[in-house]
Amino acid sequence: MKPDNITSAAGLLAELVRIPSVNQFITGKKEAEAGVASFLKDFASGIGFDARLLAVAGCAPDLLITKEFKKGAPWLMFAAHMDTVSAEGMDFGPFSGLEKDGRIFGRGACDDKGCIAASMWALKEIAEQGGSKTNIAILCTVDEEQQRHGATAFSNTHFAALGFKPAGVIVAEPTSLKPIVAHAGIGHFSIKTSGIAAHASTPSKGRSAIKDMVRVIDALEKGYISRLSATDPLCGKAQCSINMIHGGRQVNAIPDECIIQVDRRVMPGEDAASIIPGVEKVLDELRQADPSLKVQVLPGFTDRPLKQDLNHPFIKKVLGCIGGMGLDAAPKGAAFATDAGELSRTIPACVVLGPGDDSLAHTAKESIAAGEIESGVRLYKKLMEEEWKDD
Ligand SMILES: [Zn+2]
Repeated sequence: MKPDNITSAAGLLAELVRIPSVNQFITGKKEAEAGVASFLKDFASGIGFDARLLAVAGCAPDLLITKEFKKGAPWLMFAAHMDTVSAEGMDFGPFSGLEKDGRIFGRGACDDKGCIAASMWALKEIAEQGGSKTNIAILCTVDEEQQRHGATAFSNTHFAALGFKPAGVIVAEPTSLKPIVAHAGIGHFSIKTSGIAAHASTPSKGRSAIKDMVRVIDALEKGYISRLSATDPLCGKAQCSINMIHGGRQVNAIPDECIIQVDRRVMPGEDAASIIPGVEKVLDELRQADPSLKVQVLPGFTDRPLKQDLNHPFIKKVLGCIGGMGLDAAPKGAAFATDAGELSRTIPACVVLGPGDDSLAHTAKESIAAGEIESGVRLYKKLMEEEWKDD
């Protein structure tokens, strides 16, 4: 569809929902976001913005949309993700872009295409109204929902080549327009026990990896999980849970291998690198008690928490803008993680902020009200019109 035929932020959102972009690590289908990136690139170019693709190894590219209103002026960046979670089991056609009773339905309608549409539309209106004292960038990332390849590639590679340093970044995610300034990180790991296979008729000739794992789980619950004490005033308490288990090859054989997968939620201020040593300490006690025990920790995906100086001028100014519009400007923390953890490695301050109710994200009923998008456009416009300082 041509840009001219899209007459509202909600209309743009409906178009975005109709382009499937379920994360490639969920479906196995590569470059899942390429269609959305291509559509947005054409849309942005069609209304006079610069739009370029930024390569992400193993994934579709990120898309960077920029509008330089004034040479040398500070830059404000928005970041939103183009991928979605799985579209299976939804209550309606996940890619229909159905509009009913003032709401837009579909996978990604709330998380995160509503935020893409709101930020794009805000910039479009600002440009039509004569521009801003601030230059604006909108970064559309890939793979936010699984491994953060898009935000990581941006921080590792593309940020240095930008040619400007943003005053801060609004990580556009559905927060009901409430500002999130801190959030938890993630540390995934697996633990493997290795036993000796034997016929089930002679268990004493083998060693059950499942029985060993039972001891490991018990030690982990008592010696590690129940002792986690890190807390954050905005984000709550560190968490850890054993969420997957796999062991054994057939019902008539003693299992020679068992694996559990563990999710650890890291509080701001905690060092994710300390997770594995903490687990190893508990396992070492088991190993000392039974030197024949074979147990191994396998590190997995880690995601940085968002931890920053809440007195940073950028954050204070964003909160001031929100309050100035009569909205709830109390800074909040979140137990979930976003691209902000990665982006905060290079950009001095982040606020996670956007239209849409996050309790509808990832659900069978995902939707967003057109009115919520309009409120998002108004708030984003207010932020884009401010004069920012790139200190
Ligand atoms: Zn999201």
